[in-house]
Amino acid sequence: MEAIAESPTAKDWHALPATAAFEALGVGEGGLDEAEAARRLETHGANRMPPARKRRPIVRFLLQFHNTLIYVLLAAAAITAALQHWVDMAVILGVVVLNALIGFIQEGKAERALEAIRQLLLIQSAVRRGGRVMRVDAAELVPGDVVLLQAGDKVPADLRLFQARELQIDESLLTGESVPVAKATREAARDAVLGDRTSMGYSGTLVTRGQGAGVVVATGPASELGRINALLRAVPTLTTPLLRQMAAFGRWLTGAILAVTSATFAFGLLARDYSATEMFLAAVGLAVAAIPEGLPAIMTITLAVGVQRMAARRAIIRRLPAVETLGAVTTICSDKTGTLTRNEMTVQAVVTATAEYSVSGAGYDPHGDFQLGEERIGSDNHAELQELARAAVLCNDARLLQREAGWAVDGDPMEGALLTLGAKAGLEHDRALEQWPRTDVIPFDSEHRLMATLHHDHAGHGFVYVKGAPERLLGLCNHERAQGEDRPLRAQHWRDALERLAGDGQRMLAVAAKPMTGQTRELSFTELEGGLSLIGLVGLSDPPRQEAVDSVARCRAAGIRVKMITGDHTATALAIAGRLGIGDDARALSGHALDEMDDEALRAAVLDVDVFARASPEHKLRLVQALQSHGQVVAMTGDGVNDAPALRRADVGVAMGCKGTDVAREAAEMVLTDDNFASITAAVEEGRTVYDNLRKAILFILPTNGGEAMLLVTAILLGLPLPITPVQILWVNMITAVTLALALAFEPTERGIMERPPRDPAAALLSRHLVWRIVFVSLILVAGTFFLFERALADGADLAAARTIAVNTLIMFEVFYLFNSRYLAAPVLSPAGLLGNRWVLVAIAVLLAFQLAFTYAPPMQQLFDSRALAPGEWLQVVAVASSVLFLVEAEKWWLRTRSGRPGAAAEGR
Ligand code: ATP
Repeated sequence: MEAIAESPTAKDWHALPATAAFEALGVGEGGLDEAEAARRLETHGANRMPPARKRRPIVRFLLQFHNTLIYVLLAAAAITAALQHWVDMAVILGVVVLNALIGFIQEGKAERALEAIRQLLLIQSAVRRGGRVMRVDAAELVPGDVVLLQAGDKVPADLRLFQARELQIDESLLTGESVPVAKATREAARDAVLGDRTSMGYSGTLVTRGQGAGVVVATGPASELGRINALLRAVPTLTTPLLRQMAAFGRWLTGAILAVTSATFAFGLLARDYSATEMFLAAVGLAVAAIPEGLPAIMTITLAVGVQRMAARRAIIRRLPAVETLGAVTTICSDKTGTLTRNEMTVQAVVTATAEYSVSGAGYDPHGDFQLGEERIGSDNHAELQELARAAVLCNDARLLQREAGWAVDGDPMEGALLTLGAKAGLEHDRALEQWPRTDVIPFDSEHRLMATLHHDHAGHGFVYVKGAPERLLGLCNHERAQGEDRPLRAQHWRDALERLAGDGQRMLAVAAKPMTGQTRELSFTELEGGLSLIGLVGLSDPPRQEAVDSVARCRAAGIRVKMITGDHTATALAIAGRLGIGDDARALSGHALDEMDDEALRAAVLDVDVFARASPEHKLRLVQALQSHGQVVAMTGDGVNDAPALRRADVGVAMGCKGTDVAREAAEMVLTDDNFASITAAVEEGRTVYDNLRKAILFILPTNGGEAMLLVTAILLGLPLPITPVQILWVNMITAVTLALALAFEPTERGIMERPPRDPAAALLSRHLVWRIVFVSLILVAGTFFLFERALADGADLAAARTIAVNTLIMFEVFYLFNSRYLAAPVLSPAGLLGNRWVLVAIAVLLAFQLAFTYAPPMQQLFDSRALAPGEWLQVVAVASSVLFLVEAEKWWLRTRSGRPGAAAEGR
């Protein structure tokens, strides 16, 4: 004990025999007791990696300035300082700092929110404590804990293995070696490198096969992963391809702005008789006007808001770019059981060689009867029924629990249903296991589609029970049970029964048995190869989830094709697909048929077929590839270890949070906390919303800058006084970015968003139409502002008063245009359109308060050279500025009628 307390990693655990490891850790195979575990938790601390080293706040703040657009502003500040225009310099710097502050605060908030969402994905592990198996948070593990591993688990701490059954672990995280390593319990050589320490399981690696158990030797930072982690702790970044694209756009824009500014500077100096100082200031103003300082922050915030909304709808994003990809998904490939169906199973029918029984009762409640035809029967006189029930109960790892709310299952729901069946036949799980103890098991996996258990009675007779997919078992059986005897299998008889019940949507299972010698203590597949005798078939119902039916319909409306990939029988799959509304024709491809097809044939078939039955995870990978070869953007669900390659390959891998394995979760972009298909649809909807909102933010911000820049360029070209000074421009930019544009990040989902076709992922963020909209609005802003400015001058106002009018006009234009921007193409002139987003109203109220201060507060008047306005002037400002609302709405209307396609119009194409 002392040794680990001092230096947990110093011991060569891999070279110690397991017994020595137990001894050193002061524990046995039964595990620590709770009190000792709690004590050790105090000494060793939580089994958690120290959080990624956070950038210090000051660094994060300074990084806000690391942006080409901001560099230009800083250069502008330097120029004004050189010209000794201190007010301009102070305001430019003020804006830059304020902008950085907002970015700093909002980014901090977003990062904390994402961190909180990541916490939802913490893993749990199975441990043995005080002789009992339980699940605890991996963070609570301590040295000496006995951890049980099975395929799909993430190893929660460094373990010295003392049990390994076909155990294989993917250690690529630590060693870079992508082939899983076979593990054993024998000690490894003392000088073995990490990859050769076969007696160890290391924290963070993934169990890809088999089962095992190990004793924890190191946790948290003391583990191998902890040591590596300390070396390369990555700082999480809050970015996606789209944001990177925008950053590149920002750099390009800066170049363009500098070019235009220099040209204007030269023109003003040479062709018009502005002085050099005047032109310097004007050039600075122009650069300041054209730069959308607020844009990067708004984009990040919009993305973070989207991730939070998805989490609220039970979809946890693991990799940020998925938010964008989700909005472009064209095909969703979903598992059936539990995702599209409720995974609440009830046995409805039992078929034996001589009879076909129906079973009454609901859910997992172990009360119900057997019926033969119309007649209720007791199961005692029906030998095959009894034996089938016994096999169903013994070849079973689930437990039935009676809760206040009713009966529930701990474990696989189908196995739970079998326990209920057993209880209806008078067999109790624990008692049966006492009478016929289990000596070995071959666990179920979706590759072999069967599970087998070896039992011995107290007289020393051995026998195997096997349950699994009927086609699979029919292939292994050469006999069937009838009246207690084995007789040759009538394969056709069973196939007919199978097709009939499956065609009714029932999930089918076959049950078989084989006597063994008393000496056999271990099971292997070869034992199952010959001599199995079929006892019967079981038909289970698993109704579709109502939300899934609705979601499939919504996907259809949204131009997204839903495909069902299931391990179930073809007839079952088709019946359930029919109830869900998946696939128009009764066509399905079986895994077998898929195996026969080469990639070309699969490619030809994949778009038209929506139901894939008896498919295994390898088929999923091929299907994703075939779909992607058609340019489809594919979301694929999965839960098992073998699903990981398909999840990784899909554009959006979706793992199940409840029944999924850690391996699947690691491979996925998104995890559903409720395993429900409806949550995928919700995530797609949010993904589309995020993309829309990003476009809305850009669409709102760019015309402001465009308008201001044009205003200055026009004035200079015409040799007129500038209608708005550089300082005032900064004020407008800053005040609208922190109020109005920010509100768009919180814009709720547009109605009808799920009635449009998916976005083309290759299409530019701003379509030609939207670029036109930016120019159009910029022109309206310029025309309106110039008009009022010139008019005020003509009416005899002084330059400062006219400029105050110009500034207020620009601001009011923004206010009205914000409403337009709420919907890309749909009309906003409705109560919902005008009042639908609370943030918009709050932002406007705040903005107006600032604007009143700008116009009337003496210090502001001094700083910005503004003047008080008369009510009549305000009236003019509002009247002119409101024009943008109507003009843009008219433009949208024109677009909608011209395109004739509501979908395209809605998307603003
Ligand atoms: P999906 O991929 O949609 O979740 P599924 O759950 O039906 O489909 P699998 O779990 O691979 O797919 O099951 C395939 C078949 O294997 C089932 O139809 C059933 O016959 C059989 N089966 C499933 N679970 C078990 C089990 N625990 N023991 C024995 N056989 C099983």
